[in-house]
Amino acid sequence: MTAPVPADLVSRLKAVLGAGGWSEDAERIAPKLVEWRDRWMGTTPFLALPKTTDQVAAVVGLCFEADQAITVQGGNTGLVGGQIPQGEVLLSTERMKAIREVDAFDDALTAEAGVTLAEVHAAAAEARRRFPLGLASEGSATVGGVVSTNAGGTQVLRYGTTRNLVLGLEAVLPNGEVWNGLKRLRKDNTGYDLKQLLIGAEGTLGVVTAASLKLFPILPSRAVAFLGIGDPKDAIALLARAKETAGGAVEAFELMGRLGIDFALRNIAGTRDPLARPHPWYVLAEFEAAEAGAAEAAMERFLAEGMEAGLIGDAVVAQTDAQAKALWAIRENQSPAQKPEGATWKHDVAVPVSQVPAFLAEATAAMAAFAPGARIAAFGHVGDGNIHYDVLRADGGSDAEHSARRDAGSRIVHDIVHRLGGSISAEHGLGAMKTAEGARYKSEAELAAQRAIRHALDPKRILNPRVLF
Ligand SMILES: Cc1cc2nc3c(=O)[nH]c(=O)nc-3n(C[C@H](O)[C@H](O)[C@H](O)COP(=O)(O)OP(=O)(O)OC[C@H]3O[C@@H](n4cnc5c(N)ncnc54)[C@H](O)[C@@H]3O)c2cc1C
Repeated sequence: MTAPVPADLVSRLKAVLGAGGWSEDAERIAPKLVEWRDRWMGTTPFLALPKTTDQVAAVVGLCFEADQAITVQGGNTGLVGGQIPQGEVLLSTERMKAIREVDAFDDALTAEAGVTLAEVHAAAAEARRRFPLGLASEGSATVGGVVSTNAGGTQVLRYGTTRNLVLGLEAVLPNGEVWNGLKRLRKDNTGYDLKQLLIGAEGTLGVVTAASLKLFPILPSRAVAFLGIGDPKDAIALLARAKETAGGAVEAFELMGRLGIDFALRNIAGTRDPLARPHPWYVLAEFEAAEAGAAEAAMERFLAEGMEAGLIGDAVVAQTDAQAKALWAIRENQSPAQKPEGATWKHDVAVPVSQVPAFLAEATAAMAAFAPGARIAAFGHVGDGNIHYDVLRADGGSDAEHSARRDAGSRIVHDIVHRLGGSISAEHGLGAMKTAEGARYKSEAELAAQRAIRHALDPKRILNPRVLF
């Protein structure tokens, strides 16, 4: 049920937002009420579409005064339901599209919240620079969303998560005040770091309106290889070798199980198996370096040594950009390729890198006992210890029956992760979907500190009230 927003608040919101800055039209709002996996349906009485930071401040300030809850939405690619309103006013950043500045001397790019990651990449490339955060959702995911979820992705191994890539932020705090922290400093030890508090806060501590992002040089030497291997343990051994052989050149190291390759071959048009025969597991490795030919030479050495050590069954190296793109497409399509296969329990977990093989073995044995016949599609950023461990219903099984057992199945997986010193949400956040589960694995001391911080900034809990503690 959508609670009506008081009529006087609606007319004040309309007045500050102006023509084109709001909507109550169900058809216009509908795409913003359903998320990517069709798991969350929402409702909202009012869509606010601010174009400027001042308009965001006015909307949030008015709502704060009236005790009106708000849900914030960027590109709506979040996977834990935090951006889908359940009756709150919906504040979308879709009209906040300016790239305010690109500075090649400071290696900084300042973009407003609604700019997509792909648009950031394009603007950086125009200045012969690179913003090294890559997500399969980058055509829609926005600066505000990426910052608020502390998004990771395929290059974390070398460049870190969003937390390492933000120099400054501008945000509207829950009481409607604007905080301009759009610095471009590499060093600033002047008290608590408010920007780091907002990064990963999933929209609970403020609406991010703009961010100053770190740029890097474009490295000309690049090598992408697709390896067939026998066991996740071999992937960990190969990762250690890759770091030794290539030094800082290891840009990405991704693991995929055979089932995910089969799904891609079956469900994603144009996919081809890069290797002549099937292997139980695969690694997609990318090296990049500044010196011409250096990444290619390091890759050649790495593959030769890995094969000699019996760790690699077969491998192919991309000879052209198009081939590299096709290899990456297999990795990026791991999640979309599952969609036609039916109900899935998704887990976005992290364990220490050394524990990845133990996690996969334990979780898979536990799932075989709990859900016989369920299909395990595991893939992810093995270089960061981050595995997307997806449990699909048995071939020909019932979606409804599988979905009904999701919470119990996920609890088993999460308990294993916790025991191995891991996290139940490596990169997607807790959102509305996993907040209660997330609380289960935190100490009382940590929960109390997190609640105190939130209460200090948002005593009325008006921003994303269903998300986090
Ligand atoms: C195919 C696919 C692949 C993906 N791959 C990855 C991956 O590799 N790594 C990864 O980390 N994630 C991944 N994601 C998840 C998702 O893309 C990221 O979480 C992304 O950062 C969300 O950005 P968004 O703009 O779509 O945010 P939304 O989905 O709109 O919102 C996400 C959260 O951020 C909050 N929020 C959004 N904008 C703001 C703002 N301006 N101020 C305050 N709060 C805000 C929302 O309230 C919500 O809680 C993937 C998703 C898909 C569909």
